[in-house]
Amino acid sequence: MGKVLIIGAGGVGGVVTHKCAQVPSVFAEIMLASRTLEKCDRIAAQLGKKIETARLDADNKDEVTALIKKFGPDIVVNVALPYQDLSIMDACLETGVHYLDTANYEPPDEAKFCYKWQWDYNERFRDRGILAVLGSGFDPGVTNVFCAYAQKHFFDTISSIDIMDCNAGEHGQAFATNFNPEINIREITQKGKFWENGEWKETEPLSIHETFDFPQVGPREMYLMYHEELESLVQNINGLERIRFWMTFGQEYLTHLRVLQNVGMTRIDAVEYEGSKIVPLKFLKALLPEPSSLGENYKGKTNIGCMMEGVKDGKRKKIYIYNVCDHADCFREVKAQAISYTTGVPTMLGAMMVLTDKWKGSGVFNVEQFDPDPFMEKLGEYGLPWVVEDRS
Ligand code: NDP
Repeated sequence: MGKVLIIGAGGVGGVVTHKCAQVPSVFAEIMLASRTLEKCDRIAAQLGKKIETARLDADNKDEVTALIKKFGPDIVVNVALPYQDLSIMDACLETGVHYLDTANYEPPDEAKFCYKWQWDYNERFRDRGILAVLGSGFDPGVTNVFCAYAQKHFFDTISSIDIMDCNAGEHGQAFATNFNPEINIREITQKGKFWENGEWKETEPLSIHETFDFPQVGPREMYLMYHEELESLVQNINGLERIRFWMTFGQEYLTHLRVLQNVGMTRIDAVEYEGSKIVPLKFLKALLPEPSSLGENYKGKTNIGCMMEGVKDGKRKKIYIYNVCDHADCFREVKAQAISYTTGVPTMLGAMMVLTDKWKGSGVFNVEQFDPDPFMEKLGEYGLPWVVEDRS
């Protein structure tokens, strides 16, 4: 029986809270804290279980520390924004409480996706005897666990991995992002990057694309991007020769994005406007629908998975491990769309792994460094069934 402090009451935070509330044997007490208290209370009112809520500015380490001391959680789950990762990790260090997140730290003034800042905490977490679990969403998260599971059960060596993220859903809005608009647009407008034969190769943003026929979804155009799990998987999967990340986008989305970029609305540097400084992307975020508001009319499915090739017992082997998730089913269960759902379920599961001692240790770890089996055993049970297809 454990206590969890969830920080961030957005699309993902809502799902994590619902999912933790569904497992009282592990999460006996729950607190949801976020910048806007009303959002925490709105989520709390959807649950059949009583939880605590609090207003919190997680950029302020002292505020986070004080709240941890007051509530006394066994683990802090960070589903606010990547900007808060380090202040929350600092508060966990000060109070000696485990930490878990879904997105790597980013400095607000630079769209740089890199684990270095958080990996640099390894010794401090180790010396404090606590665990930081990084990237326990779907991608990063489940995709990393799929790779670890394949390495353990299906291959002697994996030579290539293609992580493919397809959202074939329709939300009925002209333009909206499925997770925080600011973080999403920073990620998509950066240069593409993949790893091949021991070196990183850069590509122009969204310049490489291919069609893939996604099971239960159909053919979709997917675009090569950089995504943070590539950095840790390169280190943790043996014998890897190439790893790439792909995401599908519709033409309507790409056209809107191109126009917004061309007129400067995706800039992250401050511009002068009538005597004040504003960051165009932050202003754009304020105009776009919140990810948590998209669920009600969302239809269609996601298919996210890993295509892997390698060798087993001297023979070439190729498999595709994936999950298919239906937006409308997610809304019926937890009032969220499938992107929040596919992120929130593994977030809850990662916390469950720590609280039930299935994942343990001291230091900073990416999820593929733990035993994948207990996580994979629970993934279907808690809403994300997975399929392994032999494509040899
Ligand atoms: P939302 O924008 O819906 O939610 C973010 C929440 O964090 C909001 O409620 C926001 O408060 C709160 N917040 C922001 N700043 C602070 C702060 N300083 N202190 C306290 N709370 C704060 O985003 P999502 O729920 O879609 O995404 C949440 C996280 O999940 C992001 O980091 C995203 O990158 C990550 N993610 C990871 C995925 C994965 O598969 N690994 C996939 C999708 C998302 P307010 O409401 O007041 O703005």
